Amino acid sequence: MKHTHKPKTFISRCFSGPVDSRRPNPRAHGWATVEQVCPCGAWRLVNVNQKQKEIGYWQPER
Ligand SMILES: [Zn+2]
Repeated sequence: MKHTHKPKTFISRCFSGPVDSRRPNPRAHGWATVEQVCPCGAWRLVNVNQKQKEIGYWQPER
């Protein structure tokens, strides 16, 4: 189904490495990695550190 994915579920984890991002941001590394899940099942990983973010690409449903 084609739509703009919207993160609905947020699962916080310890930082586990850089995510594959269009805009890599090393300053977002080292704190937490958040898994965001769209109601359609797509998901992406976002690294968060203070106000820095590194947003990964949406991945198809697992
Ligand atoms: Zn979606």
